[in-house]
Amino acid sequence: MDLVCLDLEGVLIPEIWIAFAEKTGIESLMATTRDIPDYDVLMKQRLDILAEHKLKLADIQSVISTLEPMEGALEFLDSLRARYQLIILSDTFYEFGKPFMAQLNWPTLFCHKLIIDQDGVIKDYQLRQPDPKKKSIQAFHNLNYKVIAAGDSYNDTSMLEEADAGFLFRAPDNVIAEFPQYPTAKTYSELSILIDSASSDLNRSPI
Ligand SMILES: [Mg+2]
Repeated sequence: MDLVCLDLEGVLIPEIWIAFAEKTGIESLMATTRDIPDYDVLMKQRLDILAEHKLKLADIQSVISTLEPMEGALEFLDSLRARYQLIILSDTFYEFGKPFMAQLNWPTLFCHKLIIDQDGVIKDYQLRQPDPKKKSIQAFHNLNYKVIAAGDSYNDTSMLEEADAGFLFRAPDNVIAEFPQYPTAKTYSELSILIDSASSDLNRSPI
């Protein structure tokens, strides 16, 4: 049985920081890596803004729990899990992803974690390792799994390159233009067809 690795934000759920900024009306939280390319600078800024608004982890989680996965995401995951082993590879944090995981029937999630103090204030964050999506695919290959991956953005491309088959899902035009080697899907049923076809190609016995 092949492994399917999916990105989370932009593929199964909305971009968490953007959705959180919209929900709370804190516009300065709208910044993404497109505005501030250095992830550490961006994250420090986000944590400062949360502190400024006296938002603790519990406040943030309660806002996040009012957000919903993309329409059809749950059904898509449920149907994939009948045919593949499914792992979600994300650059989010467990503490932010958790409310969504509850709505998606608790799929396996590999991501980063926050450092929370005893009062529930987010003090810092801990990245699992550099380039974790690519490293995960390499590890699965070491376990003799064939891996099919899909994501929507720049932070997915090293994962797509490492995988046996890689697809873009609802990616912005600039990403599609820069990475024409990856077939793209706009709906879950299109993605499902691409995955099934890649899997049957990967498992066709050599003539
Ligand atoms: Mg994404």
